[in-house]
Parts: sequence; C-alpha cells; structure tokens
Amino acid sequence: MEIITKIKEMQKKSQSLREKKKEIGFVPTMGALHKGHMSLIEKSKKENNITIVSIFINPLQFDDQEDLKDYPRVLEKDLKICEKLSVDIVFIPSKEEMYPKPQLTFVRVERLSDNLCGLFRKGHFQGVATVVTKLFNITKPHRAYFGAKDFQQAQIIKKLVEDLNFEVEILVLPTIRDKDGLALSSRHKYLTAKEKEKAKLLYHALMKGVSLLEKDIKDSKIIIEEMEKVLKKEPLIKIEYLKVCDPNFLTDLKEVSNTALLALAVKIGKARLIDNILWRNR
Ligand code: AMP
Repeated sequence: MEIITKIKEMQKKSQSLREKKKEIGFVPTMGALHKGHMSLIEKSKKENNITIVSIFINPLQFDDQEDLKDYPRVLEKDLKICEKLSVDIVFIPSKEEMYPKPQLTFVRVERLSDNLCGLFRKGHFQGVATVVTKLFNITKPHRAYFGAKDFQQAQIIKKLVEDLNFEVEILVLPTIRDKDGLALSSRHKYLTAKEKEKAKLLYHALMKGVSLLEKDIKDSKIIIEEMEKVLKKEPLIKIEYLKVCDPNFLTDLKEVSNTALLALAVKIGKARLIDNILWRNR
C-alpha cells in the first residue's frame, strides 16, 4: 500500500496509472473509518484495478470550529483498515498542502444545497463541493464512491459532476447500520454509551415514517408529527430538522406520491447525527 501526501505526486501517479489503462476507483473520507467507509472501499476494489482512499479533514466544510477541533483523528488505525482491505493508495494531504494560500475559488451547487443540512450548516456544502472538485482533479478517478447516509451530499456531487462535465462516475451505496439500525458514523466517538443507546430512536423515527407511507398516509405534516413523537420520547435528543422531501430536488413535500426522502438531523450530547431513508411506492 502506497501512502502519498503531496498533490503533485498523487497527480503524477494517477496520470501514469491512466496511461497504463488502469481504472481508478476513489473513496474520499475524513478518516475514523468504520464499516460504512469499508463498504465503499470494498465496492471500489471490486469494480476497479486501483483503489485510492483519501483521508482529509476538510476545514472548509466545518461551520463549527469546535467540531473541527474535536473530529476524531486515528490515522494509524485507519491505515491498518486500508491495508487489510488491500487499498492501493492512501492519499493523506495536510491542510497546508490542500490550502497553501487562502482559497478564493469555490464550487457552489445551488438549490440542492439550500434545504436540509444546508439550512443549519452555512457554507458546509460549498466546502464539500470545493474539496471534492480538488480531490477529483488530484486523483483523476474513473469512479467515485459515496454513502447514501449523506444523501444530500451525494445528490450535490452528482449534480456538480454533471454541470462541470467531470469524467467520473458517481456511485452511491446503501447506508451501513448497526444491529439496532443506527447508521454508522465517525461522530459516534462523541457519544456516551447511554447516548448511543438513545440514538437508535433515529432509525425508529424513520421506520415510523415508512410505516405510515406504507399505510398510504401521504400527508407530510402527519408523517413529521408522528416521527417527532418517536424522537421526543427521549429528552437527550434535540431535533434539528425532520423532513419529507422530494429525493431529486430536495425540496419539502406537502404530500407524497411515489417517492420521498425521509431525513432528519439531531443533536445528542456532543454529536450531531443525520440519517435518512428513501421510500418508494412498490
Ligand atoms: P466521511 O468520512 O464522514 O466524510 O464519509 C466518507 C464517505 O463515507 C461519505 O461518502 C459518506 O456518505 C460515507 N459514509 C459515512 N457513513 C456511512 C454509513 N454508515 N454507510 C455508508 N456510507 C457511509
């Protein structure tokens, strides 16, 4: 496994792999790898000759400096996981390498960035879209892998690739959950055992929404109220948003027809957690 920390070296490497007709799969991460990240890496291994994983905690996408400071950094452990999964290249640039001078160029995907997390994390998706653009230019992948857990992020990246004509295929893979349904997240490291126990209500709330849709209850207001009741059973959970959205445009739906994204964000203790489920009429 090769570890690359310099942009120029990574670009040269990717260029030469492309010239040798190797297909490159890319998995961008912020580290503290778990089974969610691992599922993306495994898929990339299956579909490509070379898999590149990046580990970079992107300051541009943190609206909360405390969150940035506290974000888990466990590089040794991450490298062991990458090694075990036979990752070919780990790209680990420093902050100074990625942003040697103040960044004056930004990528902003309009509309899709406005709702959901965009309402609460100012500048977050601009930070994500900008770093992903940089990382695509550095790693030159044929395919890039993202998790459905960050549904809005995945939609934004797909649109960015379409609008800016990147020659990269975006693959969005299912959310990996623990046995209680809790979507795995690097931010679980902030939770106490008790808080983690309560966090499973997030999945219960989403499932409540699904069960109502399955019973043909399509009024979003009712669905949101019922999901809210599930979360409000636990005072440790502070709701940021609970929404029923159009999965393509990420706008609020008053009434569901054939498909809907049920999405939520909450704070529990020090952690901000998000989750979602995409419902489709069968
Ligand atoms: P992060 O390190 O949190 O920036 O996430 C890196 C990638 O892993 C993103 O594409 C996430 O959507 C994805 N990811 C994070 N958690 C999960 C999960 N539980 N299941 C599937 N993918 C995930």
